[in-house]
Amino acid sequence: MSKGFLVVISSPSGGGKTTLREEILKCEKDICYSVSYTTRLPRREEVPGKDYYFVSREKFLQLVKENRFIEWAEVHGHFYGTPRDFIEENIQKGKILLLDIDVQGARKIKECNLPSVFIFLIPPSWKELERRLLKRSTESEKEIKKRLKRAKEELSFYQDYDYLVVNRLIEEAIQDIRCIIRAEKCRRARKEKWIKQLISESS
Ligand code: 5GP
Repeated sequence: MSKGFLVVISSPSGGGKTTLREEILKCEKDICYSVSYTTRLPRREEVPGKDYYFVSREKFLQLVKENRFIEWAEVHGHFYGTPRDFIEENIQKGKILLLDIDVQGARKIKECNLPSVFIFLIPPSWKELERRLLKRSTESEKEIKKRLKRAKEELSFYQDYDYLVVNRLIEEAIQDIRCIIRAEKCRRARKEKWIKQLISESS
């Protein structure tokens, strides 16, 4: 098993993933974020190249044709894709990569058989999910309804994930995810170099 692995996080919209992702990246200096491509327009606070690579539908479809995505999907009427080169190069280098992708994307990543841990971040209740989506108010009412309908469908994918983290309090969810990553780093196969060294020193 290579030292590097993917941390795939999915959650229904309004699950609080962006804040959580930023906090994790702030605390865990050895984790890199995989910036996706998307055809949706940037939100006010979003920075191109940091949050997403914002591209036209034509450009996106060109990249699909060139096999430049390890996975891609249509979500809420827009295309989203994970750049293949970035993932493959960094996994080779032994990096830990954080992917914030939807349930379809997570399923496709699973089929790639790359070393990965799958985390599903869920709201504490349906009411709370509605409240968070309304509070964010970056989307129109029609868009919010669409996202809620989709959230219902997404919840049924939970069996694809290794861990379910309930985002009741963001600080707790961050701690849970950091603990999962820590445990993942300690997998026997990832520490084999150390144990072999120890055994050779002991003989
Ligand atoms: P948003 O538009 O709110 O940033 O993201 C909408 C959904 O698209 C979220 O569920 C997010 O996880 C997902 N998403 C973002 N990037 C990718 C990607 O590269 N691939 C897939 N499959 N989903 C993505």
